[in-house]
Amino acid sequence: MSVSAPVLIRMHERDNVAVVGNLGGLPAGTVLPGGVVLRDKLPQAHKVALVDLAAGAEVLRYGVAIGRANRDIAAGSWVHERLLDMPAARPLTGLPMASAAAPAAAPLEGHSFEGFVNADGSVGTRNLLAITTTVQCVAGVLDIAVERIRRELLPRYPHVDGVVGLEHSYGCGVAIDAPDALIPIRTLRHISQNPNFGGEVMVLSLGCEKLQPERLLPPGSIAIGGHVRLQDEQHVGFGSMIDAVMATAEQHLQRLEQRRRQTVPASALVVGVQCGGSDAFSGVTANPAVGFCTDLLVRAGASVMFSETTEVRDAIDQLTARAASPAVAQRLVDEMAWYDAYLARGGADRSANTTPGNKAGGLSNIVEKAMGSIVKSGSAPIVGVIAPGDRLVARGLNYAATPASDFICGTLQLAAGMNLHVFTTGRGTPYGLAACPVLKVATHSELARRWHDLMDIDAGPIADGTATIEEVGWAMFHRLLAVASGQRTWAEQHRLHNALVLFNPAPVT
Ligand code: CA
Repeated sequence: MSVSAPVLIRMHERDNVAVVGNLGGLPAGTVLPGGVVLRDKLPQAHKVALVDLAAGAEVLRYGVAIGRANRDIAAGSWVHERLLDMPAARPLTGLPMASAAAPAAAPLEGHSFEGFVNADGSVGTRNLLAITTTVQCVAGVLDIAVERIRRELLPRYPHVDGVVGLEHSYGCGVAIDAPDALIPIRTLRHISQNPNFGGEVMVLSLGCEKLQPERLLPPGSIAIGGHVRLQDEQHVGFGSMIDAVMATAEQHLQRLEQRRRQTVPASALVVGVQCGGSDAFSGVTANPAVGFCTDLLVRAGASVMFSETTEVRDAIDQLTARAASPAVAQRLVDEMAWYDAYLARGGADRSANTTPGNKAGGLSNIVEKAMGSIVKSGSAPIVGVIAPGDRLVARGLNYAATPASDFICGTLQLAAGMNLHVFTTGRGTPYGLAACPVLKVATHSELARRWHDLMDIDAGPIADGTATIEEVGWAMFHRLLAVASGQRTWAEQHRLHNALVLFNPAPVT
């Protein structure tokens, strides 16, 4: 490995720690820019004390206290999670409400993509045959049918991008009338309405399940492109069930095959942003670039959703201040309060969020992770808050209240109407969704090199100074338009996708 000059990344002038940027870390004895000498060997992305920190002193990163030193820490020492006591969660009272919403930025005009326009005015980035299901019991039949449709039917329908089986664990064995059952049911309903399915879904049901098709998709919610119920007497054996699904799918495919992409303004994009497998670079490179791109998208009239309640909870005062109105600020508070109570009911709190991988990647606790996560939201005013499983209504920057779990967040963003997904990762995850293109952004170049056929964008050059946040953000914006127009992501090329995972806070039976 070549010996390169030590690279330190400090996020805010108040910060008394900085992150090591060098690949492979830095050895003890290294003289840092500014003259501090490293007392410990520091891994890449981990924090070093820039000054002597007395026990009890606030440790500042992003200009905020991410914890207090629980012993004296000398300048040049490695500041890791065992040396920090985490601050208490910010109370949900006395918050600044809509006090600092940024003035509307100049509109960004002239950007467009090639999309599939639906009857309700929404626009798909893909033309997909979706088969929704009422209950997990049908999942095995669905899997086999989807594979046969892909193999035997799709080659004859070149204008159809794929077939998606909407499999899930809900539908029976659940307290379906419990108040919180509203969340998984509306999530499934709204996923069926995702713009990438063209305003029409096929239904595969069993017959005896609690979640009957009329309850899942009431009249007026979405066009049903055929319905196969496995317990119907007409089905004699497994082969007959598959034949019925194939015949129904063929008719649906004939309708989808007529559709063509047309030029639509960038404002038709509904982009969900999230992170997973984060490291200390997430909040330095990839997430700030996403935040810059978020601002571009909002200026272009598009909608962007950021999410992950436990990862923004510690920045609630920043969010309520940025709300476009006191009513939106109050909705943010309501969602945080609901989630605090949900976690408390399960005997947990927000500190349950960080993973061993986060800590190995240099993130000491949820406060530090949150400050690096929230920058994905850029600087635009927050115009809407979407409850779990609900649909986006206000065009612009929205907070979609979801757990931080990658799969549950992605599932809920799909329900909200997402037609494009941006996902940042530092530790690395092969995450993908069948229903929507996912662009994965590496937080550092070593991951981008090692996972060269999994990561779509490398934000690493921001750390070593060879690219700016603005440059990577603009490149991301143009790439998003290309992918929205049909360019396939790595996850799509490999057909990598994770399961839909419902958020079900209600009891099972
Ligand atoms: Ca996540």
